[in-house]
Amino acid sequence: QLPARVPGRGSSGAARCRPGNGWAASSGLPGPVQNQMMHSSDAQGYNPAVPGSYSHPKVPPHQPSGQYNYSGSQNVSQFNSYQGPGQTLNRPPVAPLSGSPVQQTGPVPQVPPPALQNSAAISSAGSFPPGAGPPMLSNWQYSQSAVSHPAGTPPSHLAPGTGTGSAQPSPSLSGNTNPPGSYQYAASPGGPSLHNSFMKPGSAPPPVTQPLTPLHPPPRPPLGPPPVGGPPLIRPSTLTAGPPNTHCTSSIHLKYLSSLLLATPHPSPAPPNLKMNRNVGYSYPALPPGYQNTSPPGAPGMQASALQYPDGSKHFHQPPLGTNHLTASMGSLSLQQEGLRPVNLLQERNILPTTILQAPVPNLHEDIQKLNCNPELFRCTLTNIPQTQALLNKAKLPLGLLLHPFKDLSQLPVVTSSTIVRCRSCRTYINPFVSFLDQRRWKCNLCYRVNDVPEEFMYNPVTRVYGEPHKRPEVQNATIEFMAPSEYMLRPPQPPVYLFVFDVSHNAIETGYLNTVCKTLLDNLDLLPGNTRTKIGFITFDSTIHFYSLQEGLSQPQMLIVSDIEDVFIPMPENLLVNLNENKELIQDLLRTLPQMFTKSLETQSALGPALQAAFKLMSPTGGRISVFQTQLPSVGMGALKSREEPNQRATAKDIHLTPSTDFYKKLALDCSGQQVAVDLFLLSGQYSDLASLGCISRYSAGSVYYYQSYHHKHNPVQVEKLQKELKRYLTRKIGFEAVMRIRCTKGLSIHTFHGNFFVRSTDLLSLPNVNPDAGYAVQMSVEESLTDMQVVSFQSALLYTSSKGERRIRVHTMCLPVVTTLSDVYAGADVQAITGLLANMAVDRSVSATLSDARDALVNAVIDSLSAYRSSVLSIQQPGLMAPSSLRLFPLYVLALLKQKAFQTGTNARLDERIFTMCQVKNQPLVYLMLMTHPSLYRVDNLTDEGALNINDRTIPQPPILQLSVEKLSRDGAYLMDAGSVMFLWIGKNCGQSFISQVLGVPNYGSIPQNMTHLPELETAESIRTIAFVSWLREQRPFFPILYIIKDDSPLKSSFLQNMIEDRTESALSYYEFLLHIQQQVNK
Ligand SMILES: [Zn+2]
Repeated sequence: QLPARVPGRGSSGAARCRPGNGWAASSGLPGPVQNQMMHSSDAQGYNPAVPGSYSHPKVPPHQPSGQYNYSGSQNVSQFNSYQGPGQTLNRPPVAPLSGSPVQQTGPVPQVPPPALQNSAAISSAGSFPPGAGPPMLSNWQYSQSAVSHPAGTPPSHLAPGTGTGSAQPSPSLSGNTNPPGSYQYAASPGGPSLHNSFMKPGSAPPPVTQPLTPLHPPPRPPLGPPPVGGPPLIRPSTLTAGPPNTHCTSSIHLKYLSSLLLATPHPSPAPPNLKMNRNVGYSYPALPPGYQNTSPPGAPGMQASALQYPDGSKHFHQPPLGTNHLTASMGSLSLQQEGLRPVNLLQERNILPTTILQAPVPNLHEDIQKLNCNPELFRCTLTNIPQTQALLNKAKLPLGLLLHPFKDLSQLPVVTSSTIVRCRSCRTYINPFVSFLDQRRWKCNLCYRVNDVPEEFMYNPVTRVYGEPHKRPEVQNATIEFMAPSEYMLRPPQPPVYLFVFDVSHNAIETGYLNTVCKTLLDNLDLLPGNTRTKIGFITFDSTIHFYSLQEGLSQPQMLIVSDIEDVFIPMPENLLVNLNENKELIQDLLRTLPQMFTKSLETQSALGPALQAAFKLMSPTGGRISVFQTQLPSVGMGALKSREEPNQRATAKDIHLTPSTDFYKKLALDCSGQQVAVDLFLLSGQYSDLASLGCISRYSAGSVYYYQSYHHKHNPVQVEKLQKELKRYLTRKIGFEAVMRIRCTKGLSIHTFHGNFFVRSTDLLSLPNVNPDAGYAVQMSVEESLTDMQVVSFQSALLYTSSKGERRIRVHTMCLPVVTTLSDVYAGADVQAITGLLANMAVDRSVSATLSDARDALVNAVIDSLSAYRSSVLSIQQPGLMAPSSLRLFPLYVLALLKQKAFQTGTNARLDERIFTMCQVKNQPLVYLMLMTHPSLYRVDNLTDEGALNINDRTIPQPPILQLSVEKLSRDGAYLMDAGSVMFLWIGKNCGQSFISQVLGVPNYGSIPQNMTHLPELETAESIRTIAFVSWLREQRPFFPILYIIKDDSPLKSSFLQNMIEDRTESALSYYEFLLHIQQQVNK
C-alpha cells in the first residue's frame, strides 16, 4: 500500500506550495488536461471534421477582437427584469484605480512536466490565456415586448421581434424548453424572485414603451485585425486548416497526458517525517480524563473572542474601494466577526444550526454585495481571498469555486445584442464589477485593461436615458444571458436530437423497466424540449443490435437487425433518426409495442459496446443526446467486461476497483464529445455491472449517470415510481446543446483543476456536448501572482450553448470577492460547505488515483491542518480543548460525515457500484444536494405546527428545526424524518403518539404499521396535511425523487437510518466526539 500523502504541514516539499493542502491537483479524472497542442482545436467545442454545413467565423474565436466600430445605433426595447435602483456614475468603482491598464502578458499554457515528485509541477499551467473567446460585434438590441420610443432618446430599433431574426421568439418563451416558468422574469418583473433573491425585488422599472426603429441599419463591425498590443497568444486563424483527424490527435494527447497526470499521485517515497500516524484508525486511546472539562468555567467562546481580538474591528476594516473610500458595511462586518469567534468544539455541542446553513456573505460594501452573484449559482470556498499563495498555504484550506451554472431560474435577464461588450484583452463580459473611469471608458475587473464604451452602450434601454452606461442591465446583473450573434457559431445551431438505446436482453426484460420507460416517454413526448426540427430515434440490443426505421409512409415501424457486432454499420441511416412531429404516430406505435416485442427473448448476452458505437455513428452528423438503459455487465463485443467485485473484500477498502478496467468507454466518450454527443447512462441492475468502467461514457461526454439498484417492477415497486419521476424530469428539463464553458478570474489567480462531467478541451475550455440544469461543477485555484493593491477580485463563468429552440445563447455569472492580507480574515470568510464540497471532489480523485484510505487520510488531514494553523497562527491565547473559528465549527462534523458517506466509508455496507455511483454524484451534483447526501437533515415531525411555517401558493409548509444526527436526539415518543437527499426515512418511535399513527399513517396502532410502507396516505386530518405538505415541499426542492421509507425498530432498513446518524459511533467508524478527540490530539502535537 502506498504511503498516505500527508498534506503540508511543516515540510518544505514543493507540494506545500499547492493549494488545497497539497492535494494532488493532477490526480483523478477528469483532471487538468493541459496541452499546448490542443489549442489548435477550436474555441467553440466543435470538431472541425463535423460533417454537414459548417460556416466559419470570420474571426477565429480565440483571437482577440479589435478595431471595432462602436458607433452603431441601438435597437432597444424594454428590459423587464431590470432590478435595483439606478446608480449614477458615482457607483463605487470596485477595481483599484492605481496603475495604468494592465497589459496581460498572456502566459502560454504549457504541458506540465511529468509531475512525478509532487503535484506542484503543474501549477504553472493553469493560467488563462487572454483573448480566448469569440469576437464581439456592435449593434445590440433587447428582444422584448414592444415599447415605445420616448422623445429625446437616440433613434432605436423598435419592432417587436426585431433583433437577430424574424423567427425570434418572444423572450419570455425563448429558450424555455421545459418546465414553464424557467424564464418567467418577463411575466412578473419585480415580483418576488424565488431564486435570485440577491436581486432587490420590487424595483423593476415601470413598463416602458418601445423605442423607434433606427433610420439607418446598424453597421456591422469591421472584422479587422486584433488590436495592436494584444495578447501574444495567436491561435491558428483557420480552424479547419488542421488535419482531418484533429480529433483523434486530441484523444491521443489526452490519453498521453492522462497517463502522465495519473502517474503523479504515486508519490515518491514519502519523507520519513510524514505524519503517518495520522491514519484514522479504529482504536483510540482512552479519553484523557480532563478533556471534557478543560475549559475554564465561565469562559466560553464569546468571552475568549473579546480577549483575543481587542482590535477586532480593525481586522475587518476594508481599505477604500476605489475613489469612494468605501468601508465595509456594518452588516457584513459583524457577520465576519462572528465567523472568527473561537469555538471550543469539545465543549459546545450544539453547533448545528436549526435551519439550513446559508452561505457566508462576502465582506463587501452593500452596494456591491447586492449586485453579487447568488451563492446557489457561484460560490467560493473562501469568501475572503488570500492576497498571496503563501497566505493561502498558511490557512491550509482549499481555494476553489463551486458552480451550478445552468440552474433553473425564475428570473433571468436576457439581452439580445449583437454588441456583446467584452474586454478587448481578456474577453471578459462587462459586468457589475467593472469600473467606469468616465462615461466613455470602462476598466476590466479581471485584467484591468481600459476599454472604450461602445456608442450604443451609452443608451440605457431600461431608463431610456443616454449617457448612463453604468445602469445598463449588463452592469446591473451578475447573472445574465445574451442571445449570441452568428459570430458565436461555428456551424448553424443543430436541431435537438434524442436517441434512446435500450437493453432488451432477457435480464432487462425481466426487470420490467422497458414498460416504465416507454410509458413515461409516451406521456412526455410532447414535452421534450425542442422545436419543429426535433429528431428522435431508437436502438435496442441484446447480443445483436436492432434499429427501427420510422420512415414516413410506413404503416408500422420496421425493425432492422445487425448481427455483426464486430464491425457495426448503420442500415438506412436517413430513416433511423426522424422528425418527431412529422412521424409522431409511428414513434408512439413503436413505444407501445416495444415492451412486448422481447418478452419471449432468451438472449442473455449484452452487446452494449457495439450498440454505443452504432449510436455514436448515427448521431455524429448532428450531435445530440443518447440515453442508454443498461441492466447488466456488457458481455460481448467491444467493451465487454468481467466482474471485478469480490464481496468478501468490501471491508478492506484496498484493492477495490475504482478505476475503469478498459478505456473503451472513455475513448468512445471522447469521440462523442468531439461530435457534440453526450451519453446519459441509466443503470438498472441488481448485479455488479462495473459502473467504474461504464460511467466513463457519461463522465467524459458531459452526460449524467442514474443508478437504480436492484430495479424490479414487482420486487422493488418503489423504484418504479422513482424511475418514473426522475425520468419525467430528465425528459422535460431544459437542455443546452453544443456547449462550452469557460471560467475566468482576476489576473493573479489561476484555475488548475476541474471537477464534473466534461472534457477539458484546451487549458480552460470545458466541452459540454449537453448541459443540463441539474449539473454542478467545481474548480480548484491557486494564487499565482500576489494580489497586491487589489481590494477585490472577480470570477466569471460563461456558458455558450445552443438552446433546444435553436438559439445560440451565453449565460454569464460574475462573482466579486474581497482580498485580505491576514490569516484571521481568511478564516473569518471561510465557507465550510463549499470547502467540504470541494474536498469531497478532491477525495474522489484521490480515491481513484491512489487509494481510498489515502483519500480518507487526506480528508482528516485537511481538518487537522487547518485547525492547527488556526491554533498556532491566529489564536493569541492558547487554551485547552479543540478550538475552531466559528466559520469552521462544522468542518470536523462535515468531514466525519464524508468519511461515513457511501463514497468513502469503510466496512461491508457499500457495494462497489453503489460506491462508484456516489462518487459520480459527488462529482456531478450541485453543492446543495451534495451537502444533503453527506449530512442529512433530521426533523421531528410528530408535533408539526404552523408556527414559522412558509406559505407558498396557499399551502402552509411547516418548518421544524433541524436536529443533530444522533440517536440521543430521538425520543421513543416521537416520529422523525431524515432527509438524505435521494432517500428519506421516517422513523416511528415505539411510543409514538397514537394520534400521529392514526392521523398521519392511517393505521390503528404501532404494531399495524406495515413493514415496507413507503407512502403517506392522504388523510383529511390537519396532521396528515401538514406532514405531506412538508415532505412534498422537500421533494420539490430537488431534481431527483427521494423514496420515503417508513421504518420501525424492527425494520430491516433501520440500519440504513442509523448509518446516517453521523454523530454516533458505528461498527467501523468513530463517533463525532471520538473524532474530535483524535483531531485534538493531532492538533496539539
Ligand atoms: Zn480584461
